[in-house]
Amino acid sequence: MKVKVRIAPSPTGNLHVGTAQAALYNWLFAKKNKGEFYLRIEDTDKERSTKESEENIIEALTWLDLRWDGPVVHSTDNQARYRELLEKLLNEKKVFYCHHAQGELEAERKSQEMAKLPPRHVCEHKYSERGGESGGIVRLAVNEKSDRVITFEDQVRGRVEFKQNLLGDFSVGRSIDDALYHFAVVVDDIDMEITHVLRGEDHISNTPKHILIYEALGLSIPVFAHLPLILAPDRSKMSKRHGDTAVTVFKKDYLPEALLNFLGAMSYTFSKELLTKEEMIEEFELSKVHKSGAVFNVDKLNWINSQYIRRLTSTEFKSLTGLKIPDSAVPLVTERLEKLSDVKNFDYLWQEPEYEKELLIWKDSRPEDVKNSLEESRKILEKTEDKEKVRKALDELGQKIGNRGLVYWPLRVAVTGKEKSPDPVEVVAALNREDVLKRIDVAINKL
Ligand SMILES: [Zn+2]
Repeated sequence: MKVKVRIAPSPTGNLHVGTAQAALYNWLFAKKNKGEFYLRIEDTDKERSTKESEENIIEALTWLDLRWDGPVVHSTDNQARYRELLEKLLNEKKVFYCHHAQGELEAERKSQEMAKLPPRHVCEHKYSERGGESGGIVRLAVNEKSDRVITFEDQVRGRVEFKQNLLGDFSVGRSIDDALYHFAVVVDDIDMEITHVLRGEDHISNTPKHILIYEALGLSIPVFAHLPLILAPDRSKMSKRHGDTAVTVFKKDYLPEALLNFLGAMSYTFSKELLTKEEMIEEFELSKVHKSGAVFNVDKLNWINSQYIRRLTSTEFKSLTGLKIPDSAVPLVTERLEKLSDVKNFDYLWQEPEYEKELLIWKDSRPEDVKNSLEESRKILEKTEDKEKVRKALDELGQKIGNRGLVYWPLRVAVTGKEKSPDPVEVVAALNREDVLKRIDVAINKL
């Protein structure tokens, strides 16, 4: 039996990092088992589904290079099939029409809430002629008198149990022509021959309902695995109120390989911290996915990203960022960068620095001393381009005038225009020497 898995995001918002993680684990599981990974757009909620959201989902998965097999599947293309199967179940009296008015159902729900009972609607229409009369909500007939415990072996969480009589006659269609989420998901999975349903833990309470639908249809039930959620620092499910959770927002700062590595390692203990997708495939086993959710640790993500940035070649880095800087200046940036958008802190590598004259002054030194120091540094830099010789000569200059800061501070500001930068000797070495001398002249003229 060929392994077939899918992710089925609803196009009601941008692709969430948690869904990206679920996509990664599905993808790893498929690759590990030489199976197939599909993308299905679960667009049964016509009011909230948008084309933009669908495009965002596709953009995000493409950027992460989580390629799916076959074309993108849309639930809305399967509506005739939902109707066909609902009719079949109606004929078999496994589903029925509930003729209770919205207000009655609402009142029932409220009184259950007051009595601290789980919300459920046990409908007497399923036992009467009325259940066969069309119109109204279509519900699955669930025997409320049964003391059955629905169980399944979750591949991540182990045995999971739910009492059937807590479910009530849950709805499967707003009408015969308008199947609801639970029914659509099950039918889509059946039609796509999905063998393993790997999805977020927030779906776990849906699973007993889905099992009952499979049983009503007389079809075999796939293997389930519920993946841990990505948590915010307060350990609640990470959502928009904790900041932007859309994968596409990460594009401006992170390399896709770094984000995938981070998401993969969040809920799985691999043999090392940094690993490629191929190495993840090699090690991946569903049963080793952590049971509890992990907090989204942005420092960890930044560190992983910095490691991937370091590995880029000059050509890769320049084409990624569009920067026009000398190759010699690339390591100066890549060895210090955590987020791609922080390249702006290195703007002195491709443009003249701008700063106020006062910034050149080291502590309480006099402007003429700063000027002298810069003139001496300039002489050194004119004489040699050898980094170590430059450093030695500048250190000697510092000793001679008895103030190291008076040498390095103005040089740093003259070359970078900033209070903080990598070692000025490194910056000088990365830049074109003529430009460096010109920048020193500009600084001297300011004083
Ligand atoms: Zn009813």
